[in-house]
Amino acid sequence: MLLNKMRRKLLLGNWKMNKLASEAREFALASKPLAELAKKNNIDLGVAPTYLSLAATKEAASKDMIVAAQNVHFNPSGAFTGEVSIPMLQEFGIDWVIIGHSERRAYDNETNQKCHDKMKALFANHMVPVYCVGETLQEFEEGRTKEVVGRQIREGLEGFTAEECKDLVVAYEPVWSIGTGKNASSEIAQDICKFVRETLRELIGDTADKIRVLYGGSVKPVNVKEYLSCPDVDGALVGGASLKIDSYEELLRNIL
Ligand code: PEP
Repeated sequence: MLLNKMRRKLLLGNWKMNKLASEAREFALASKPLAELAKKNNIDLGVAPTYLSLAATKEAASKDMIVAAQNVHFNPSGAFTGEVSIPMLQEFGIDWVIIGHSERRAYDNETNQKCHDKMKALFANHMVPVYCVGETLQEFEEGRTKEVVGRQIREGLEGFTAEECKDLVVAYEPVWSIGTGKNASSEIAQDICKFVRETLRELIGDTADKIRVLYGGSVKPVNVKEYLSCPDVDGALVGGASLKIDSYEELLRNIL
């Protein structure tokens, strides 16, 4: 419990392929008082816009708002058509990146190895990965959640030191609950987030107690508090309910 209190709550919106840059800017401006409120209550608040909206969001948002990219390439430059590199993000002051979101794992062949390569490059640049893990519906029904999530954690983070991982964030997102309105119960969220921390402990020792583990999957204003009441759930990664400023505000107010 004491250790849980050491970890600041984190509420991160994943906008996926939504919002024009003008809409992102409008949201960012409207979110300024929320960033202030979050800071006063020791909560980290952020959003992850598309690449094309990062600059507008960063420029319009409070400096206390985390503005994260949804992806990055592990090479600094080169012949990688359609990709964006770490220095390109850094030029705009972006130092958080979502890695291994299940949609990228499913549609863009984002393997554990690729996630590892990306996180290696991020750690080398003192940036913060939000590493997403989670099982499919079939894996859940076959009772293989811990096997799958354990492998994602081990292969994704293999060989990194505790020092490198100190700012890492992990998001447990059961694939069957993302965008479906089907929630994992808070008991499942707690059980797997605790398992994530235990697996992290095998890799990086007691630094695992400092790593924030988020739950994601159909988090809404009505259920966010229940998830965050779990001792091993330190925050939420939120898709749909983060898109409208009113709902985003409600999410925050419900965890103050
Ligand atoms: C997500 O995109 O990471 C997510 C959890 O989406 P949703 O909240 O819409 O299920």
